[in-house]
Amino acid sequence: MKLVIFSDLDGSLLNYDDYSFEEARPALEKIRRWEIPLILTTSKTRAEVEIILGEMGFEEPFIIENGAALFFPAGYRGWDMANGIAMKSYGVMQLGMPYAEIRTFVKRMTPRFKIRGFGDCSVQEIADMTGLPYDKAVLAKEREFTEPFLLGEEKDIEDLKYLASKDKIKIVRGGMFYHFMGIHQDKGEAVKITKSIFRRRIGEEVRFVGIGDSANDIPMLEHVDIPVLIPHADGRFEHVDLPNLTRAGSPGSKGWNEVVEGILDDFERRCD
Ligand SMILES: [Mg+2]
Repeated sequence: MKLVIFSDLDGSLLNYDDYSFEEARPALEKIRRWEIPLILTTSKTRAEVEIILGEMGFEEPFIIENGAALFFPAGYRGWDMANGIAMKSYGVMQLGMPYAEIRTFVKRMTPRFKIRGFGDCSVQEIADMTGLPYDKAVLAKEREFTEPFLLGEEKDIEDLKYLASKDKIKIVRGGMFYHFMGIHQDKGEAVKITKSIFRRRIGEEVRFVGIGDSANDIPMLEHVDIPVLIPHADGRFEHVDLPNLTRAGSPGSKGWNEVVEGILDDFERRCD
């Protein structure tokens, strides 16, 4: 049997407040040693994920901007990814709507709603809103598909969702922001495509793990064999109703490490 792990970043593998993954290093080290694919599945941009993968020392496929696109590094495990769009260093499968189209909608809505999207903000403002250091806020602004935003009046959300749907755009809540995105994308759809690629290459005897903390992770958790929910920073859990759900004992990278080490130990016992 083989394992493949999908994981959210913010509030899951990365702490909510300081974005650190230090406490997850023991589990990450085992994942590296056992060559288990770790597919970061995040609302972050490609530029942000590339840096984080570099910091972790991994070269793995990843899913960006809430399921907008799946990137397979060229030559990954010697696989030929002929069915994707070939980019310089990746095979890419795109589900999302281009960012320019999302921004056109946002601009049309701003006279009526108090929307503050990343495209309306300077890098410094994004750094202030997110708590990211300036150089990482630059990467967060390099968007290709989706727009994170704050809404001034919470009561407007249903009206805004309705108007967005007429333009084939949906609104999903992440940990800190709402996100505008094309209706055809979510983490679950991107996970489904990734699973079929792995099944074709490494056989049916593979178990998929999914780890997340927020509403935008639920479609991912619904499509895996072992769904894991990380509590929010205040210890509260997102409402998720899945029969086989594992709940981590701590928020952020500490909870991620505990629960992944548990899954890996169990996996090791079964393989012995
Ligand atoms: Mg999250």
